[in-house]
Amino acid sequence: MPERLIRIGTLIFALAFSPILVAEEAVPIETIELTGGVHLLMGRGGNVAVSSGTDGVLVIDDQYASQYDVIHDAIAKLAPTSAKFIINTHWHSDHAGSNEKMTQSAAIIVAHENVRRRLSTDQVIEFFKAEVPASPNSALPVITFNDDITFHFNGDTIRVFHTANAHTDGDSVVHFENANVIHAGDTFFYHLYPFIDSGSGGSLTGLIAAANLILAMSNDETKIIPGHGALADKKGLLAYRDMLVAVHRAIADLIVAGSSAEQVVLAKPTAAFDEKWGGGFLKPDTFVNIVYDSIKRAMLK
Ligand SMILES: [Zn+2]
Repeated sequence: MPERLIRIGTLIFALAFSPILVAEEAVPIETIELTGGVHLLMGRGGNVAVSSGTDGVLVIDDQYASQYDVIHDAIAKLAPTSAKFIINTHWHSDHAGSNEKMTQSAAIIVAHENVRRRLSTDQVIEFFKAEVPASPNSALPVITFNDDITFHFNGDTIRVFHTANAHTDGDSVVHFENANVIHAGDTFFYHLYPFIDSGSGGSLTGLIAAANLILAMSNDETKIIPGHGALADKKGLLAYRDMLVAVHRAIADLIVAGSSAEQVVLAKPTAAFDEKWGGGFLKPDTFVNIVYDSIKRAMLK
C-alpha cells in the first residue's frame, strides 16, 4: 500500500479512536490502584489493566505503539519484571498498537481468533474510510481462542469471554473473579457515545448483549473498566445499557416509519442523552449515523 494512503489511514484512525487527537508524542500514564493487585493505566487510546504479583505481569490492551515507553515505565513502577501475557480486547490499534514492542521483551499475546485474523491482513474501518495495514508477525496473538480462556495467575481466576459481534467480531471481556474487576474493552464506553465498527462485524444488538452479560457478572462493588472513559461501576454500565436500548428503539422506529439517514439525524433521537454522552470524540450526529448503519445492516441480513 502506498505510504501516503497508510498515513491518511493512520491519521483518520487516530482521529476516530483517540479521545483527544494529539501528535505522535506519548501522553503520560495515570495509574489508578484498583483491588487484588490490579491497576488501571490511562493514557492515549484504550484503557489498560495490569495484574502484578508473584506470578508476574499480565496486561490487558497496550494502546498505540507511540505509548509503549510510557506504558513500560508505568508497569516497571508496579513490578520488577516485564509483561508475561498481553490480552487484546480487540484488534484496533488504540488497543493493540504496542503489541510488536511488547513481544520484544517476550510477552505472549492472547486474543480471540478474529483479532489475529484481522491483525494479520489489511483492514479498512469502513465508517471512517480508514485503511489499516496488516501487522508484522511479531505483533500477532500466538494464543487464540473461540469462546473463552481462563488464566490462573497472581492468585486470581481471570476469565476472558468472547462477546459476539459487539464493537467488532473479536471482542473479549476480562473478569478478575477474586479482585471483582472487569475490563469491558470497547463493548463499553463510559460517558462517551461508543463506536460500533460494523465493517469489522460489530453491531448495536451485540453491544447491548455484551452490556447485559457484564451486568449479570457484576455486583455493586464491581469495578468496571470501560475501553474508553473513566473507571465505572454497575450503575454506570446500567446507564450505558439503558442509553443504547433507548437510542436503538428510537432510531429503529424512525427507520420503520420510512425515515432516511438524513431525516433520522434531523429528528435528534439522542437528544435526551447528548449532554451526558455526546461530549466525546463521537458527536451525537455521528453516533446517530453509526447506529442507523448498524440497524440497517441488521435489517438487510
Ligand atoms: Zn476499538
